[in-house]
Amino acid sequence: MTTHDSCGRVLDRFYQVFPCLSDPARRSSLVLKAALVMLHLVYAGILFLFDKDLIEKTKCEPWYTGLYLLLFVATLVQYFVTSGSSPGYVLDAMRYVNETNTIFKKISTPSKQPASSKNGNLVITVEGNQLARNLPGSNATSWTKLVLDMYPPGTSARNLTCSYCNVEQPPRAKHCHDCDRCVLQFDHHCVWLGTCVGQGNHCRFWWYICEETALCLWTGVLYITYLKVNISRAWWKDAIIIMLLVILSISLIFLLLLLLFHSYLILTNQTTYELVRRRRIPYLRGIPERVYPFSKGLCRNLYNFCFVRSSIEELERLPDARQLEEMSRPYTCLDFLTCRCC
Ligand SMILES: [Zn+2]
Ligand SMILES: [Zn+2]
Repeated sequence: MTTHDSCGRVLDRFYQVFPCLSDPARRSSLVLKAALVMLHLVYAGILFLFDKDLIEKTKCEPWYTGLYLLLFVATLVQYFVTSGSSPGYVLDAMRYVNETNTIFKKISTPSKQPASSKNGNLVITVEGNQLARNLPGSNATSWTKLVLDMYPPGTSARNLTCSYCNVEQPPRAKHCHDCDRCVLQFDHHCVWLGTCVGQGNHCRFWWYICEETALCLWTGVLYITYLKVNISRAWWKDAIIIMLLVILSISLIFLLLLLLFHSYLILTNQTTYELVRRRRIPYLRGIPERVYPFSKGLCRNLYNFCFVRSSIEELERLPDARQLEEMSRPYTCLDFLTCRCC
């Protein structure tokens, strides 16, 4: 009992010094991150420990090992950057819209008078804003109005309100029970990263998978080279290298499939959630399987994904019946010649 009490007191003091470790969810997330760094270090460390040829090669051609280590560090940095970035929360977008509209209102009022050049510039700046342009009418400054404007007429705001966050969800947003918040363009909650993947960090996530795949591939090549070149060596070294290589190959297959899958999602402007739960999402029900309602063509989708989509200012409205009809139209020879899909 005394030992138990003293252990409890030590733990309490430890959590006072490191308050971030008192939350079990954050603790497990930190353990996972430490495990990931350790796994990378073990894979690279064992290679440099066992492979004397690699050390010799590093002395002759330092750029080769230098490039490998650069990719190694870049992958870990990308992991932490993606893990620490916001997936784009609906609450943040709502705050942004409300603040923008407050500024819009303040500036619009004096602009009705003969404006000075300074006022004129300000009005142009705000009117040029995507959100301000999307809002029809003078009273369309609230988040509710903006969200309703993205759905077909007659949609009730009550049906769009998240019962946990009490906020209206724009199309493609979903509540994440792990993060306890609504996420814009929700893709999935990534346990490996300890955060959601959504509108704000999908691009970073893709780059992380890409770097991790390249690192796995390069490490695999180095392991195979070691097994091929070094013939006189201890059996247990072979056993360790082969075991690590098997795990690495399985990870590589998984990463390659994930990379291809997310590349397909990006090119068709879909999310994992939309693809998997297509029949259960009300606004996607009834749309033919081969029609991607948010797609604007391969090139535009790719451009938006790289340069536009990560901003919480960019919210996508549902296509209307005429646009859906146009998307459902079968491809003709002329469509292929004019690159309709692009
Ligand atoms: Zn929510
Ligand atoms: Zn989440």
